[in-house]
Amino acid sequence: MGSVTLNKITKSFGDAEVIPPLDLTIEDGEFVVFVGPSGCGKSTLLRLIAGLEEASGGNVSIDGVDVTEISPAKRGLAMVFQSYALYPHMTVRKNIAFPLRMAKMPQAQQDAKVQAAATALNLTDYLDRKPGQLSGGQRQRVAIGRAIVREPAAFLFDEPLSNLDAALRVGMRLEIMELHAKLKTTMIYVTHDQVEAMTMADKIVVLRAGVIEQVGSPLELYHTPHNKFVAGFIGSPK
Ligand code: ADP
Ligand code: MG
Repeated sequence: MGSVTLNKITKSFGDAEVIPPLDLTIEDGEFVVFVGPSGCGKSTLLRLIAGLEEASGGNVSIDGVDVTEISPAKRGLAMVFQSYALYPHMTVRKNIAFPLRMAKMPQAQQDAKVQAAATALNLTDYLDRKPGQLSGGQRQRVAIGRAIVREPAAFLFDEPLSNLDAALRVGMRLEIMELHAKLKTTMIYVTHDQVEAMTMADKIVVLRAGVIEQVGSPLELYHTPHNKFVAGFIGSPK
């Protein structure tokens, strides 16, 4: 399960209201992309869902349970950071198993989960290497593997491919989509890249200055943008 509901969620930093009261429902299993220009509040919104940012008002629910006051670790979500968040001195196996080791899971169970994640991510041949011996794309897959073993209700990605070169980015995009098809777990993906949004999303949330301009499928946004901002941003002819 992995539905997420935002109910009148707001966030201010000092006097600046970065997210005015905002409502949004994400269904279990959806691939949702938050898209919008730099500084529009995409990361803040994702961090509010993750619990890494405290809401100034409103509620976050996961599978119908209000988690607004619950710590990030207990929300059952996995934030996938960019690949540089790996531990350089640990092997791929140890990096992926890290959250399980922290939870003191029995070794045999850890091994089984690491193996399953490595298989899903085509990393079985690299388990004994260290991050420095991997390509950028492989490192990114290890970061995702570390999230997978926790079997989260949803994966949260904040511009996970922005460190990679253009060719690699296309490949990783496809791999993340493939992973979504395999796991069928809710994914919430932040990007400022329209192409990424249009090619990956079941549902796109277009943000401008913390306000949702439109929510819809890529085709809906393309064919029936609600305003010029959405049309311009999505590259719709209208
Ligand atoms: P995006 O991810 O869409 O680029 P952010 O969510 O990072 O946008 O930021 C939205 C706005 O909130 C920006 O104006 C940014 O400067 C401001 N902001 C983000 N985090 C903080 C913070 N910790 N303190 C003050 N202002 C912040
Ligand atoms: Mg951001």
